[in-house]
Amino acid sequence: MSRELFQPSPGLAAKAHADAATYQQMYDRSVNDPEGFWGDQADRLDWIKAPTRIKNTSFAYDNVSIKWYEDGELNVSANCIDRHLETRGDQTAIIWEPDDPDAEAQHITYRDLHANVCKFANVLKEMGVGKGDRVVLYMPMIPQAAYAMLACARVGAIHSVVFAGFSADALAARIDACGAAVVVTADEAPRGGRNTPLKVNADVAFGKCKSSPKMLVVRRTGGDIPMVDGRDFWLHEMEARVADDCVPEAMNAEDPLFILYTSGSTGAPKGVVHTSGGYLVYASMTHQYVFDYHDGDIFWCTADVGWVTGHSYIVYGPLANGATTLMFEGVPTYPDAGRFWAVCAKHKVNQFYTAPTAIRALMGQGKEWVEKHDLSSLRILGTVGEPINPEAWNWYNDVVGHGRCPIVDTWWQTETGGHLLTPLPGATATKPGSATKPFFGVQPVILDAQTAEEQTETAAEGVLCLKDSWPGQMRTCWGDHDRFVQAYFTDYKGYYFSGDGCRRDADGYYWITGRVDDVINVSGHRMGTAEVESALVAHPKVSESAVVGYPHPVKGQGIYAYVTLMAGEDPTDELRKELEVWVRKEIGPIAKPDLIQWAPGLPKTRSGKIMRRILRKIAENDFDSLGDTSTLAEPAVVDDLVENRMKE
Ligand code: ATP
Ligand code: MG
Repeated sequence: MSRELFQPSPGLAAKAHADAATYQQMYDRSVNDPEGFWGDQADRLDWIKAPTRIKNTSFAYDNVSIKWYEDGELNVSANCIDRHLETRGDQTAIIWEPDDPDAEAQHITYRDLHANVCKFANVLKEMGVGKGDRVVLYMPMIPQAAYAMLACARVGAIHSVVFAGFSADALAARIDACGAAVVVTADEAPRGGRNTPLKVNADVAFGKCKSSPKMLVVRRTGGDIPMVDGRDFWLHEMEARVADDCVPEAMNAEDPLFILYTSGSTGAPKGVVHTSGGYLVYASMTHQYVFDYHDGDIFWCTADVGWVTGHSYIVYGPLANGATTLMFEGVPTYPDAGRFWAVCAKHKVNQFYTAPTAIRALMGQGKEWVEKHDLSSLRILGTVGEPINPEAWNWYNDVVGHGRCPIVDTWWQTETGGHLLTPLPGATATKPGSATKPFFGVQPVILDAQTAEEQTETAAEGVLCLKDSWPGQMRTCWGDHDRFVQAYFTDYKGYYFSGDGCRRDADGYYWITGRVDDVINVSGHRMGTAEVESALVAHPKVSESAVVGYPHPVKGQGIYAYVTLMAGEDPTDELRKELEVWVRKEIGPIAKPDLIQWAPGLPKTRSGKIMRRILRKIAENDFDSLGDTSTLAEPAVVDDLVENRMKE
């Protein structure tokens, strides 16, 4: 792995919210005096009733209970909108960039946002939605998705966003799981020049549901769609009947704000529950510090609101901070591979936050697409979702950031609500491929996977756990607290178990090595998949790779590598040999892949993460038990891989 250190520029550090000394001093206080630290941070919100009990959390196996600010009362939507009206009513809250580059972008001010969210909230009320009711959102990336989330928060309803790329089956399962009273959708979702028939999908889902919710439909394309009398309602028709003011409901800090399912990379998705006060404090603070957000900055997170990244860093974090947040309806490659950079240039984006899968894909298209656009407005670059290979990190740094923009590699999970391991732009020297250091209040520990012993040496490797709670932590699995305890607090008692493997280097930097389930044991050597993959991706002809273990008669486990080549490269036996030699040289003989399979595509979740559990089954020759594949983006990819599986 790379040993290179990238220091924050002194100019940036001087203006940043935290330089190295401030980070250290704040971090120390956050772990030595969490009550004091997080009590002070509560002041970043407006409370209806200020909290006096700050932290009340237990990771004890027989009593897992997490409460922050438990006697406080607030309304999340009022914190994201109303309190900004006096000072920034005319400031843009949301810039909306539509799928079609020739269609006009929208600039929605905080005042507009207030009116739209209030109307939406009143419509929900008209439909009978109140405090504690569940509302499922199945929406394109349009401002109404944010309005719907905030409207739920305003009336005290709990939203559960289901990514618009999911099938009717996946939608039906999630509607039933939370017992939704209303499902909000749109006629169609334009993406990459094509329209997904959302309303029609929702109709199919309703046919499969055990419950019978109502449907609220946003008109996006004006496409011709059937409406069911008495069940389906048009938003624009309902809105014409309601007032554009709505008093926000007073909510307890521990009232649920939303339910969101994890990506399903490792198994059946979990219904993660986040609550109001702690979540918003944490989303707001991480957004401000990690992206070094300052008033007037234009912030763009390219995630979909269907993922937690969209929740925390398109909607809640930025709006709580009175920021201008960009919402993009399209895809990185439409109308061409320069779209991300065209949007950055067009809206003069200052902070840009995306996923390694997008960076690798765009890297594969060549740097011409980036160089066409003026990216001088960019100040901070961020990444999230998977370990970023140093090769992709360097490309991001050089080609996109011209070496002037600090890269924040943020490690976190749906469960954590916000960033846990991350550099701060003005404080932390970065190393390509490392998520570096803990955020305030975060106490990572590395445990030995077998003995569960805490590794006290600085340089260590094992499973990544958290020693104590932070305000953004999930509180439970919806309707299934036992599953919550089982999944996160049982294998390593007394800790929150992340499920990820991790290495801490001699400088105390954290490197995510992949999922614990994915760790390979070759002749007694434990190896993270991320390291071997990064070595492969560093080869100029390789665009992407996924590595898994398979039963090997001699070594215990052998290394099975799926490799996707750069556009135009030939998959030859010579290249296979070349890659074996390459990995040997990059990491060592122990890491040499035993089998390399050419993969035209890799199985990924809808959020773009590689599903190694499926690749492992294929490598193990166990095709019948591929597990939950409902969150797979392109199921056909799997058939090709099964057909062309390599044998010794
Ligand atoms: P499931 O929990 O259903 O298997 P998932 O873990 O992919 O799905 P998410 O909550 O979307 O669901 O993803 C969190 C995971 O993504 C982390 O546990 C980690 O494995 C990976 N991850 C996220 N950010 C990073 C990062 N910066 N570096 C390395 N890995 C990351
Ligand atoms: Mg997970």
